[in-house]
Amino acid sequence: MKFIADAMLGRLARWLRLLGYDTLYYPAIEDRILLHIAEKEDRVLLTRDTRLVKVRGITEFLLLEENDTFEQLKKVIKAFNLLGTHPIFSDTENMGCVPRLSRLYSRCSLCNTLLEDVPKEQAREHVPEYVYQTSGSFKKCPHCNKFYWKGTHPEKLRMS
Ligand SMILES: [Zn+2]
Repeated sequence: MKFIADAMLGRLARWLRLLGYDTLYYPAIEDRILLHIAEKEDRVLLTRDTRLVKVRGITEFLLLEENDTFEQLKKVIKAFNLLGTHPIFSDTENMGCVPRLSRLYSRCSLCNTLLEDVPKEQAREHVPEYVYQTSGSFKKCPHCNKFYWKGTHPEKLRMS
């Protein structure tokens, strides 16, 4: 299952990537190019644009009328059964994620590239000291050199 998100769904795209799903997103892209990529690469179009989904010949899409990123995410997960029988959200206040761990943190939330494991030592200068001390494993995006570690990013994303 691969996705392409329209220009209004940047935060959703980052979340899907964090969950491990190949999701393209361009902040500025013409509709016809968006549709062309969706068709050519066999990607499901995620959009908030009711006009866009009426275009003739459009293949698979999901129209998201929700404003809230988490509501959008829940709808996508439900629509495509992304997490099987595993509930992603509990009803706790912080909406704790319980996705399949093997997929989580496998893809860069900024550029969609698959992450690589890096030795802990290599992360030292790139992450906060407390994270370095308390985290056991780190990953890095080979494309944009952003470092990842378990447990920190959902919180960060929520604030951005
Ligand atoms: Zn990256």
